[in-house]
Amino acid sequence: MQLYDLRSALRETGLGKMTNADEYIDSIVLVIQNMLFSVDARKFENFKLINIVSDESGFTFTWESKSTSSICPRCGETSHAERHTYNKRVVIDEPILGKPVMHCLREKLYICQPCKESGRPECFVEDISGICRRPYIKTTTNLDEKIVNDGIHRSANGLAEDYRGSIKISQGTILNRVKEASGMVTEKNLTDTDGVKILSVDDNNARKGSSSTASTVVVDTERHIILVVAKGADSELAKTIFTRFPNADKLSRDRACAYSKAGNDCGLKQTADLFHLVENAHDAVKEALSRGLDYNIYTKEGDGWVELPLSGSLPEVPDGAETVLVSTLADDDIALRVHLASLSARQEKKYRAVIELLRLHDQGLSSKEVDKKLGTTQSERIKLFSEAADVINGVEEKIDEHYANSGNRKTRQKTIGKCARPSKESIVEPYGGVVMKMAGEGGSHRAILPVIKDLGYTGSANAIYQYILKKRNEDAPEIESGAAIPEGAPPRPARVSIQRVTKTAVYKFVLREAAATRASETGGAADGDAGRDGPAPELPESEREKAQEKASAFYSDGIASIISGSKKDAKVKKKAAKPDYNAVAEKNPIVRRCIEFLICLHYFIDNADIQRLDQFIAKYRICDIPPFKRYAKGLGEDYDAVKNAILDRDINNGMSEGFNNKIKLLRRIRYGRAKEGLINAVSVLSTQARFRYSDYAPVKYKPRKQAA
Ligand SMILES: [Zn+2]
Repeated sequence: MQLYDLRSALRETGLGKMTNADEYIDSIVLVIQNMLFSVDARKFENFKLINIVSDESGFTFTWESKSTSSICPRCGETSHAERHTYNKRVVIDEPILGKPVMHCLREKLYICQPCKESGRPECFVEDISGICRRPYIKTTTNLDEKIVNDGIHRSANGLAEDYRGSIKISQGTILNRVKEASGMVTEKNLTDTDGVKILSVDDNNARKGSSSTASTVVVDTERHIILVVAKGADSELAKTIFTRFPNADKLSRDRACAYSKAGNDCGLKQTADLFHLVENAHDAVKEALSRGLDYNIYTKEGDGWVELPLSGSLPEVPDGAETVLVSTLADDDIALRVHLASLSARQEKKYRAVIELLRLHDQGLSSKEVDKKLGTTQSERIKLFSEAADVINGVEEKIDEHYANSGNRKTRQKTIGKCARPSKESIVEPYGGVVMKMAGEGGSHRAILPVIKDLGYTGSANAIYQYILKKRNEDAPEIESGAAIPEGAPPRPARVSIQRVTKTAVYKFVLREAAATRASETGGAADGDAGRDGPAPELPESEREKAQEKASAFYSDGIASIISGSKKDAKVKKKAAKPDYNAVAEKNPIVRRCIEFLICLHYFIDNADIQRLDQFIAKYRICDIPPFKRYAKGLGEDYDAVKNAILDRDINNGMSEGFNNKIKLLRRIRYGRAKEGLINAVSVLSTQARFRYSDYAPVKYKPRKQAA
């Protein structure tokens, strides 16, 4: 609403010269009317405002008609014959200052002479189509436009709720207005089609993978609008739609779908969609990786990519300390670790099983042989495998913890027992000197056993272990937690190196490698969109922090840490060592093959090189990696469209993919329960500029047929 300067508006009315009180009031009313209806004043030009009531229920304007003629809706003749009675009509309008607005109109009735003579009803209510679009409608045109434009991105229920207190309108009316408007737009989209040159088509399933809920989305690629969303996704339907666009000559579509036939029938030059072309290639790579990677462990979890442990890759060591490989752990060493980590019997069993599993795996035994040796079932082994890194690293963590707390004897209570007898009563006591000396030098109880056995000891290794614990416990003075490791205690055993590399991480490595080659081949020209299919290049630490700070400038500290993660988290994350992907690639030839596949693919796409496309198809058609073979075969089957896609880069389906997501969003706003009609309505409207009734031919209103 345009705001008028009251004083200048009053000056324009010539108020200063007026003396008559009535005239004065009239002018004030006129000015206020202009302030409130900066747009609408013209629409009410045939009316005189006779009253405004403002109370808690809102504003009520009372208008009286001052027209002298009107057009007969039946015959179109202009009549000047007033009937001198009024028809009262109430319409609601856009809210003013958040309060409901109601207009009480006193319309004039006219008598139509031609209609009277031909025996039709002679009387008609004057035409107010400037205010309302149709007779009997209860809302003004302005309000209708507001409802339609608000209703696109809001469910009817939600909108009715939003309007509560300012616009009295039901959910059903909102739905009707939206559908009616979309009817006008769709009608125009599918009849006024001369300017449409390039079509793009895609299908959209209401429920994932359920083709019975499919609908066809047709997009005007040049104007960036959804032309129609039609129920069904078959070639007949597509043909019906395509034939409405006589000037269209190009069609962008998914590869090898039902629309291909329709496109051919309508003589459209078809372009396979580059978006899918690339996406399918990446799917092929993912599949090849998941099939071909050395440790192929499948569990249906998450997005289907499974974490797999790889022994022998870089360990997570904070300070570059010495490490040992899991598979080389000696029995003694394992036992020591079990004790240092204070594992329970069950935990120990699992720990040993994991180590054995990894060792057998390193020896190159097949899964079946591993199962046989370990006595595991397939699912047990897979589970064990997927937990391997956690188990090993968990034990290392516990050992770290143990050393961090080694000053605090209380942590050892667990293994000693509260009512344990003193070390003096132990059968190891006679050999105490030797035992403690060896233990001080780092010897484990197992190493000590044979030595004191020679001296006449007859007890078990465990007794020695218990004795060492007790002795240390008794001898050590009370030290606060976190104090230095007491002298004589053995140093921490070297860390066991095991690291987890996810297949997703390997996939990302493949993308990075492919993107790097691509950038260098094209002289860095592809730098800009290298990140398009690959993960974003990793920023250096300082820049990442800066970016994070910048991003959180608009939030208070507490909120910023919720939105973008606390800084502490970021620091913990960066501690994890990067796996040596090159070593992974070395071990798994499939990785390099995937990189090569992507480089070849991007080469012919980037350079629009048909010869290289042919080479690509020829090469991979007979390749020994099934996903690549299938992909190349697919390209060959849809050769012309693929060729067009590569040569004509301006046409692609990307937009209609984007619109597809938009349609899904619109569906979900309505809890996925909206029917085709409504989905078409909101979809078509959502890509238009702000809807205005004046841009479209009015639809002939079809009143509902009354039951006979
Ligand atoms: Zn008439």
